[in-house]
Formats: sequence, structure tokens, C-alpha cells
Amino acid sequence: MPGFPRLAPSYDIVVVGGGHAGLQAALKGALLQHSVALLDRGPKYSRSYYAPHMVNIPGFPDGVSGHRLLDQQIAAVRAHEDRIGYFTPAMVTSVEKTSDGFAVTFDWLKQTQVARARVVVLAMGVVDRIPAVEGKIDTIFPWANQAIVDFCILCDGWDLVDRSVAVVGHDAFAARTVLDVLSFRPKSVELLTHGHPLLDGVPEPERSTLAATLKERGVPVVTTEMVGFDGIREKLFGVRFADGSHRTYDRGFSALGWYDMHDAIPGRSGAGSMPTATSSRTRTVARSRTPPGNRSPVSTAWGTSGTVGIRSPKRGPRQNGRSSTPGRGTWKDPLPRDRRGVRDGEMVGELG
Ligand SMILES: Cc1cc2nc3c(=O)[nH]c(=O)nc-3n(C[C@H](O)[C@H](O)[C@H](O)COP(=O)(O)OP(=O)(O)OC[C@H]3O[C@@H](n4cnc5c(N)ncnc54)[C@H](O)[C@@H]3O)c2cc1C
Repeated sequence: MPGFPRLAPSYDIVVVGGGHAGLQAALKGALLQHSVALLDRGPKYSRSYYAPHMVNIPGFPDGVSGHRLLDQQIAAVRAHEDRIGYFTPAMVTSVEKTSDGFAVTFDWLKQTQVARARVVVLAMGVVDRIPAVEGKIDTIFPWANQAIVDFCILCDGWDLVDRSVAVVGHDAFAARTVLDVLSFRPKSVELLTHGHPLLDGVPEPERSTLAATLKERGVPVVTTEMVGFDGIREKLFGVRFADGSHRTYDRGFSALGWYDMHDAIPGRSGAGSMPTATSSRTRTVARSRTPPGNRSPVSTAWGTSGTVGIRSPKRGPRQNGRSSTPGRGTWKDPLPRDRRGVRDGEMVGELG
């Protein structure tokens, strides 16, 4: 039956995560004549599913939504079903080293399965933290879905030129995000700490340096808690505050950071792993012996942002151990930090 894969006893490559990076890794692996199992929880768990308009994707001069781009990539993968077993929705729960490769355990069709391979590509992405307003995280979703509130400076910084911008956050990451936003020459920037003291918990001397820099750059800081938003019909980010005041901006920018989904996977390989990148850029990710002696990428990814090689995550304060992304409900951090799995941006194993 088309679209319904059978689990083979073993594969050359198991790709965990079917966002842009994982889909491309699976496709390229198949084109290089490898057998591939692609295990994906579903596009709704891809960060890209919530990107309304990408303008930097080659081949789409008028831009494309992340949603549509995923659909296109899925179609390309499905065209190679002879080599790619595409298991979705499949939730990977562990990756273990074995004597001849890796065992990847996943839940699929209410059953626990194990996919075996010589190589595992981890491409599980990140999940953005969402500001909780009046105890709810979905208050901001309509503004995010219309790209009035952004989450990714590399992706959407260009859209802040000449606009008034509210950056939401209170820690060192938020302060640095303000400085990043300023480099895009906005009309104005304000920092909304949403009831938190500015730079609370940031160690010295970083705290003093950042505070002085914000002051020097003339960035107003609003510490009152946000209680609601408006202005969406006018395509504005209107913010209502707990003290009854109201402010309006052209754009909001959430600087709360993200969860790295790779942290949820226990079972670290130990040997044979290879970080694909350390600074938000993906490059050639593995040496392949097919054809012998040649160096060939197993996966390539969109060059702008996180993908296989997304940088180590910035961690903001947890909200009761939960974070979420528009439309996904809540996501609970399932593992304590000392059970971290294979790190983000790592590819484990080597093609033979
Ligand atoms: C609002 C917004 C705007 C953006 N705009 C742009 C833009 O204009 N241009 C641009 O280039 N980029 C943009 N991005 C960034 C882009 O979306 C990401 O860089 C891209 O989605 C990263 O791809 P990925 O494959 O690494 O991760 P993701 O797309 O997040 O995919 C990860 C996949 O892994 C799966 N997964 C996670 N855990 C498991 C598990 N345990 N088991 C099985 N599967 C799992 C998920 O289901 C998901 O499908 C934007 C992002 C956002 C949020």
C-alpha cells in the first residue's frame, strides 16, 4: 500500500525527524543509493510548520510558507519509497549503540518498534518558548501566525527595518536579542520583561555590561506584566499591561529561546559521533564511502537557520517544565538533564 511502509530488518541510515533537515537527509541518502528509515513525529511538530512566509528559500521568488515547503519535501521523499521507509507519526524514544550500528526505538501505530542502521542522523529541531499571558500560552498565537510576532532573528530580522519593535524577554538572551534587532535599523525597540526584573539572575559582570549597553543604546524597558494583545486587524502588536497602560508596536519579537528536542532522546553513542555544525549553519555532514574515497554530504539543509546543525540552545526559565508552540498543545520536558541523549547537531555513525 503506497505511503504505508514496512519496517525492514536493518537500514543504512535512520533519520530521526522529518522537518526540512530530516527530509532532505532522507532524500539525499536515498539518491546516494542508501536504504533509509525516516522517523517523524509529524509536520505539526516542525518549527517550520509555523513559519508563515519564508523569503530566503531558493526556487521560491515570491516566498513560501514553511507548511508548503514541508509538503513539497514530503512529496519528494514519497517519490523514493523504494528506498525510504517514511514512518509518521512516529515518536522516537531512544537511540542506542549496538555492536554493528544503532538501534532506534520508536512508537508507531500504538506499538513500540526498533529500527536498526549503521548510521543515525538526528534532525529533531527545536521548539520555541511561548510567553505565557494570564497563564495561557495561546494568547499570542494569532499574532505569531500572521508574522506580526516573530521568533527567529536570522529568519525575520530583515522585516524589522524601520518598524517599531517590542522584544519580549528579560534575561541575557533577551538583551542580546534587542542588540541584534537594533542592527536591523528598526524605527524603535522596547524591551518588555513581562513582570520580571531586567537581567534577573544574570551573573556579573555580564549583567552590568548588558544593562549599560541597553542604557547607552537608549532602549526603554517596560517591566509591567502583559495581560493581553490587540491590534491584529490593523496588523499591529498592541499590548495591554497589568497597570492598565497600553502600547502599540509594528512587530513583536519573542526572545524566550527554545527547547532542543534532542534532549529528549536518551542513549548517547559515545564513539563515532560527529557534530555537523556549532553555530546555526549546516555544512557537509559526513564522510561517505559511496563511491569509495569520495566525500559526499548525506544531508544538506537550508543554510539560514537551525536544521541538522542548529546551535546549542539558549535556555530560558522553564514554565512549570512546559513549553509549547502554536497549535501543538503543551510539550512536557520528559527527561532530567543528566539523561541527555545524543546532542543536537550530531550525526552518529559513519556510512560504510
Ligand atoms: C516563525 C518562524 C519563522 C521562520 N522563518 C524562516 C525563514 O523565513 N527562513 C528560514 O530559512 N527559516 C525560517 N524559520 C526556521 C525554520 O523553520 C527552521 O530552521 C527549520 O524548521 C529547521 O528545520 P529542522 O528540520 O531542523 O527542524 P524542524 O523543522 O523543527 O523539524 C523537526 C522534526 O523533528 C520531528 N521530531 C522531533 N522530535 C522527534 C522525536 N522524538 N521522534 C520523531 N520525530 C521527532 C518533528 O516532528 C519535526 O518534524 C522560521 C521559524 C519560525 C518559528
